[in-house]
This record gives sequence, structure tokens and C-alpha cells, in this order.
Amino acid sequence: MSKIQMSVPLVEMDGDEMTRILWKMIKDELILPYVDLKTEYYDLGLENRNNTDDKVTVDSANATIKYGVAVKCATITPNAARVKEYNLKEMWKSPNGTIRAILDGTVFRTPITVNNVKPCVSNWKKPITLARHAYGDVYKNAEIKVPGPGVAKLVFTAADGTVTEELIHEFKGPGIIQGMHNTLDSITNFAKSCFNFAIDTKQDLWFATKDTISKKYDHTFKDVFQDLYDKEYKNKFEELGIKYFYTLIDDAVARVVKEEGGFIWACKNYDGDVMSDMVSSAFGSLSMMTSVLVSPKGVYEYEAAHGTIQRHYYRYLEGEEPKSNPVATIFAWTGALKKRGELDGNKELSEFGGRLEKAVIKTIESGVMTADLARSAVGDNIKTVNTKQFFDAIKANM
Ligand code: NAP
Ligand code: MG
Repeated sequence: MSKIQMSVPLVEMDGDEMTRILWKMIKDELILPYVDLKTEYYDLGLENRNNTDDKVTVDSANATIKYGVAVKCATITPNAARVKEYNLKEMWKSPNGTIRAILDGTVFRTPITVNNVKPCVSNWKKPITLARHAYGDVYKNAEIKVPGPGVAKLVFTAADGTVTEELIHEFKGPGIIQGMHNTLDSITNFAKSCFNFAIDTKQDLWFATKDTISKKYDHTFKDVFQDLYDKEYKNKFEELGIKYFYTLIDDAVARVVKEEGGFIWACKNYDGDVMSDMVSSAFGSLSMMTSVLVSPKGVYEYEAAHGTIQRHYYRYLEGEEPKSNPVATIFAWTGALKKRGELDGNKELSEFGGRLEKAVIKTIESGVMTADLARSAVGDNIKTVNTKQFFDAIKANM
């Protein structure tokens, strides 16, 4: 059998711990036998980030802008314990944060659904994709604990010296204050990524804020989305028969559980943080989620939504066979291969990505799965296997 050829490389960002082991297994067992894989390889493993003073992370993000599609393995975000464990020169920043700052995007997360793991919400028949704005609001706030009586004001001094003031509250006693911001650039990029993703995946787009209460802050989000939709996206949406739907955040929450799914739900940063955990756990688990960073620069970075599965890795180092669920990492690869195929007009490559995804789903639906999933699966044919056995079953189904 001749292997599928590639014309443009994928940017390959290798990572850490258990997912680094899964990464190699996926390539060796599921991709290299079928595809003449071309990648530009960046080792984002913590050791190499430390050796290169984290330059490798920046280089990998710039390569993504150059080539258009990246696939990323989970990576350690160092804390004090990791600095000691890996003898680090410094506590390097989160690679995802560094990459997002360069690519400036929105993260889309979609549950991978199978017919023997039922969502907790019985109405849900199709996946719901969460699109989370990843900049500003409460995540970049300023706070003060008010000790006693006094006046709190919001003050903005323009570059030309003009001062705008707004009274927040006249405190009669102790209390708390919070200041937060966002930028028109970031909100516009967020909106563009969402509209483009809806077009790419031919799904309706929902967006919700609390604009009735927050008449300037949240209302600006609403206006930016609506203006952009009217000016740049309306025709394309109508052509594809998909809808842009805006509503209040509380109304959205009430409606989401009554719908059958199959749409994208765009959320402000905090709403997205809370709602993506709710949606993913109600659908199954983080090891059954796809995650892609879509940049307004028109480039894509695919990854798994979970971390490096540290506890499994330590057991692996003690000699235990890998037992982790590789599905999210496999889907990072298939997502990237399918997108590469689409951009390059390489139908064989796209079809291979789709075939591998189908084989994974078929394997799980036939009852063969790793232990994490078996815990929540229904049916009397469930067979719990380790990672290697899971790969063998997938290969048989391919
Ligand atoms: P984690 O990797 O998400 O794993 C937490 C637990 O979830 C595991 O111990 C395991 O539970 C379960 N789990 C997650 N993925 C699984 C899979 N594929 N198959 C089976 N079970 C799975 O979080 P962590 O171990 O606490 O974090 C390790 C490192 O990941 C940290 O250094 C953190 O910085 C990093 N991290 C990276 C990313 C990223 O690169 N995108 C995201 C989050 C965290 P059981 O032990 O009960 O089996
Ligand atoms: Mg969270």
C-alpha cells in the first residue's frame, strides 16, 4: 500500500509526561503506517523549553503563522514544584498562554460523542461547541478591599489629558471594589474567530451577554458582534443556511438545556470558563473533547483539552503499561491533518483524518475502551483495555 503524501508540513509541538508517550504511540501506530508524514518539529517538552530559554515555544507559534496548521501535545505549566523537579532556570510561562498571545485567538472545545456514553442532559443529541474569549474581564482585573467609609470612582485619563469620571459608590462602611477592562481589538478578533468557525463547521452561532444590566461593557460585546455580522458575515451565513442568534446569558443557559445541540455557543471569558466545564462534564469527560485555537490570522492550532496526566506518567515510569485515554490527542492529530488536507486541496489526507476518527468512534461504540470511559459507559459488552490494545482495535477497524 502506498502512503498518503503531504505537500506542506504540519507544525508539530511535542509535549510532556504521559501525553508525550501517547504522542509517540499515536504517530507510530496510527499515522506513520499510512501517511508519509511531513512535520516541522518543535520540542515543547519542559526540558527543551528550559534549554532554549522558552524560545522554542515562540518559534513554534511563529511557525504556525507561517504554515497555517499546528498540532500540540499537552505541556507542563511550571509551578514551584516543577522548578525543583526539572531544575529550571526560571518558572517559565504557560506555553498555551505564550502561543495564544502570539496567535491571538479563541479556543473552541467540542465533545466527542459516542452512542454508549449518554450525556447527562437527555435532550442533547449533538455536540455543543463552547467558544471562549480568552482575554480580559475578571481575569485581568484590579481589586481593592475597602476598609471603611469613603468614595470609589472610576477614572479614565486619556492620552491628551482629558479626564472622565464615574461614581462607583459612596461607602458608609467596609466593602469591596473591582475594576476590569477589555479592548475593541480583542473583542473584534473574538467575534471574527466565532463567525469564521461557524462558517467552517456550518453550524449556528449563539452569543450571549448581560447587556441589559451592563449597558456599556457587555453592550459593546453585543454591538461588535452585530456590526461585524451585518457588514461581513450575513450573506455567507444566509448562503449556508446557518443563523447568528443573540440573547441574554440567562436566557441562553435556559435554552441550551432544552435544545438538541449542534451549535456553537460563544461566551465571554468568565461565562466560557464556567460553561465549558459544565458542558464538557455533562457530555462525558475532558479526554473526549476536541480543542482548537482559531486565530483571526487564519491559522489553526489543535490540541487535547486535558493536561499531561502526571499521575499516570509516574505509574508508567514504575513499569505500568500505558492505560490513558488517547482519544483527545488522536483527534488533535486528525483535526490538524484534515485542516492541512483542506488547505492544500489534499483530499486523500483529509479523508484519512476522517477515517481514523470514525475508526476510533466505532471501536468505542463496539464496547472497547480505556478505563476512564468504561466507568461511565452503558451496555453489557464493555471491555476495558490498555492504550496499546485500544490502538490495535482501532487499527483493525480502519
Ligand atoms: P490532567 O492531565 O488533566 O489529569 C488529571 C486527571 O484527569 C488524571 O489524573 C486522570 O484521572 C484524568 N485524565 C485526564 N486526561 C486523561 C486521559 N487522557 N485518560 C485518562 N484519564 C485522564 O491534569 P494534571 O495531571 O493535574 O496536570 C498535569 C500537568 O498538565 C500540569 O503540569 C499542568 O500544568 C498541565 N496542563 C496542561 C494543559 C495543556 O497543555 N493543554 C492543560 C491542563 C493542564 P485519574 O488519575 O483519576 O485516572
Ligand atoms: Mg475552569
